[in-house]
Amino acid sequence: MIISKTIFLDYLFCPKNTWLKLNKPELLDQFEISAFEQNLMEQGNEVEAYARNLFPGGVEVVETGERAVEATTRFMTAKAPAIFQATFIVDGFIARNDALVWDAENNCWDLYEIKGTNSLKEGGNDHNHIDDLTFQASVLKRAGITVGRYFLVHLNKDYVRMGTINVESLFLVEEQTATVIMGLPLVEEQMKTAKEYLTNKKEPVGGCECIYNGRSKHCTTFKYSNPEVPDYSIHDISRIGTSKKKLEALVESRIYDLADIPEDMEFSDVQMNQIISYRKQKSMIDIDGVNGELEGLQFPLYFFDYETYAPAIPVFDGYRPYQRIPFQFSLHILRSPDEDGEKMEHIEYLHEELSDPSPHVAALLEKHIGTTGSVITWNKSFEAGVNKELALRLPEHKATIDRVNGLLYDLMDVFKKQHYVHPEFKGSTSIKKVLPALVPELSYKDLGMKEVGQASNSWWAMLSPSTHPDVSAQISKDLKIYCGLDTYAMYAIWAHLYKMLR
Ligand code: SF4
Repeated sequence: MIISKTIFLDYLFCPKNTWLKLNKPELLDQFEISAFEQNLMEQGNEVEAYARNLFPGGVEVVETGERAVEATTRFMTAKAPAIFQATFIVDGFIARNDALVWDAENNCWDLYEIKGTNSLKEGGNDHNHIDDLTFQASVLKRAGITVGRYFLVHLNKDYVRMGTINVESLFLVEEQTATVIMGLPLVEEQMKTAKEYLTNKKEPVGGCECIYNGRSKHCTTFKYSNPEVPDYSIHDISRIGTSKKKLEALVESRIYDLADIPEDMEFSDVQMNQIISYRKQKSMIDIDGVNGELEGLQFPLYFFDYETYAPAIPVFDGYRPYQRIPFQFSLHILRSPDEDGEKMEHIEYLHEELSDPSPHVAALLEKHIGTTGSVITWNKSFEAGVNKELALRLPEHKATIDRVNGLLYDLMDVFKKQHYVHPEFKGSTSIKKVLPALVPELSYKDLGMKEVGQASNSWWAMLSPSTHPDVSAQISKDLKIYCGLDTYAMYAIWAHLYKMLR
């Protein structure tokens, strides 16, 4: 086994999971990589390709394994100005450098690691990036390469595209030489331990500490390491990850099912409601609370939802790295409480050409959303944020967009504030959990498009010249159904609550 920087960083994050990934890969085959994660990987490659323009005259090592090492040696001997994917294999470790740059003045090489994040704290943390660079420093040192300086390169969040991408402004380059040198002894110790642990053929006993963490921290192999924990467990209690002592006490008593939690154990109100509702398998409804939320709404009710795509490298003028492109929206308009929901007006927009959708979206908001009423969303900070960015790009529409933002209401608040708790929500306020519990005849289950990340990537794929027109047509259809269901679902949930209050 040869340990790469990815394996090493995974090991630092969790030794047990890394051992399982390497030695029992069949466990991970059971889980599909999500569209969102896939997109992150693709964006990472795209960022690296752009960043290579910072190093003119660079050459790429395209080989793998030992042949890559030989190609690297050839390029180094020829003093290539920059080598991309320079490869070194020493002592059971492999480092593939993003860019190894020749410093003729100091007669040494400089090492650059390229990150597709807007800052060094994102997508991991700064330690993570430094460990990455330090791991490579150790491998190059073992290979006898003299490295002068170490750098991290990342996207500049303040860069706004205008015309052709200006690579010098798109990226920020931060020198990390002193930090890498200081961290080298510790990282080398960790590399030694990682090698011993990961190459041991015997499966490590224990080592899955996530039994003491909330569900959001669990990796895909949690179930394998903790077969006694049910799919819905104490780890799913709202914010339990921040109540470490309680979680610890339950685990120590081997209590995993919410139904087995001792009656006298204290929890926050939100947690307690979730537990009681599960124990009784019954909804808990605070009628006054629901009423208090809904009575402030004014007709017409505009059920509104955006789909966006946020590329690392801005594709249109006026956008920053990772800024959201609002390529689609759905709007259902209910003009009075007595209107038949099946017949309410539905406006939808899907941008189907390779250009900035913003002017079309803003014009349609202006046309279809009046000066009075309530614009109902699910997690309104998302729609409000997209609108604010829209107004910055299109100041001529600012007044309209501000007006729309002034009418926003977040239907998720009913559930977040726990005016309505249902055992099937399982502590979540996602519309995908709330909808099937309250309106079982509606579901996202059978859709061609199932999640936000998939919808977002599909839009970009739909516009690609390499996508077959029939595939693009199917994506367009699926996107419209997906986004349309989001707003119809909001209507259906509102209608369920409204009926309940009458
Ligand atoms: S669940 Fe947590 S501790 Fe267990 S293997 Fe996964 S990451 Fe490691």
